[in-house]
Amino acid sequence: MFDVVIIGAGLAGSVLAERFASSGKKILLIERRRHVAGNCYDEVDANGILIHKYGPHLFHTDDAQVWNYLSRFTEWQLYFHKVKAVIDGKPVPIPFNLNTLREVFPPSLAEKLEAALLKNFEYGKRIPILELKKSSDADLQFLADFIYEKIFLHYTEKQWGLSPDKISGAVTARVPIFVGRDDRYFGDRFQAMPKRGYTKLVENMLAKKNIKLLLNTDFHEVMNLHDEEIFLFGQKFGGRIIYTGQLEELFDKKFGVLPYRSIDMKFENVDAEIFQTAPVVNYPNNYDFTRITEFKLIHPAKSKRTTILKEFPQKYIAGKNEPYYPIFTDEARTTYEKYLAELSKFKNLTAVGRLAEYRYYDIDDVVKRALEVFEEIIA
Ligand code: UDP
Repeated sequence: MFDVVIIGAGLAGSVLAERFASSGKKILLIERRRHVAGNCYDEVDANGILIHKYGPHLFHTDDAQVWNYLSRFTEWQLYFHKVKAVIDGKPVPIPFNLNTLREVFPPSLAEKLEAALLKNFEYGKRIPILELKKSSDADLQFLADFIYEKIFLHYTEKQWGLSPDKISGAVTARVPIFVGRDDRYFGDRFQAMPKRGYTKLVENMLAKKNIKLLLNTDFHEVMNLHDEEIFLFGQKFGGRIIYTGQLEELFDKKFGVLPYRSIDMKFENVDAEIFQTAPVVNYPNNYDFTRITEFKLIHPAKSKRTTILKEFPQKYIAGKNEPYYPIFTDEARTTYEKYLAELSKFKNLTAVGRLAEYRYYDIDDVVKRALEVFEEIIA
């Protein structure tokens, strides 16, 4: 029999499988898809380029524990992520910083706005756009309105189907205005890509005799909940269950569905060595896609062709597309809490990860959370 059953072989489930297996437990890991690594899944395409099937996943963390833990399963290729946003037809660095100022405004105006920023904020500070918009300084108000309109408003409307003031401020605060000249997308201490990709990293984690991996298997085929008891293959199961899927699916959506945003990922082969001037270029104000990723600029490859990805945000429809981003409305939170109350009736059932916790976790957040959950459980 198994000691721990884990549903979902994304990062949350795989880290926990690895941790429990290393502590001597016997693990059953169930995955609905035909592959491990969840939305981090990557594969080499026909152009010989490592692509991220579910959209660009860039690793960055300030957490040395997360970095050291993952370093056991992969070598790293040092990589600083850079993003440009097309403003009035011109790709400029984002997060919007002092270099961007010089690129979008004539020199005298750029100088004036830079002086206003430096008068009001310390050099090196990161300011969420919704905070900058509250500024009483007339020059900063002008700048905030410009950045809001050109970078955030229409991108956010496309991405979320909502304007920035209708979603949690934490979402747009992920891309703050940077009072400095660092063009990197992230400010974290550790920034790198797994040298042979995320799929290989996760496969290395799971390469243990006491992890039994069942791909292509929906958890309903194996497990069911009844009267606050868990049944595995039709028999009462007294071990630990880790669930990393959508929480509402665990309880047959009895309190209704939780809203998510989906993306239609459209890959294109381009007959050129290089397509664009940065690994990711955002199009806040044009087209129906939000951004284009060029994977060759993330994972260098010798190829005469290049592969790009255009992301078209969509409404999430269960069974039709993927639930990528939780949409945190008040109503969604209330519904999620009802499911949490239901979950708490099962003492051996733990929900972990972006879907199960209904949180906008980054890769490092998920790894950190899974490591914490393991420590809590074994304590
Ligand atoms: N955002 C924006 N314009 C941009 C980049 C980001 O409005 O050019 C906003 C948008 O609401 C987006 C959020 O900031 O959903 C977070 O962006 P991030 O790049 O972190 O999104 P992810 O890579 O997770 O999709």
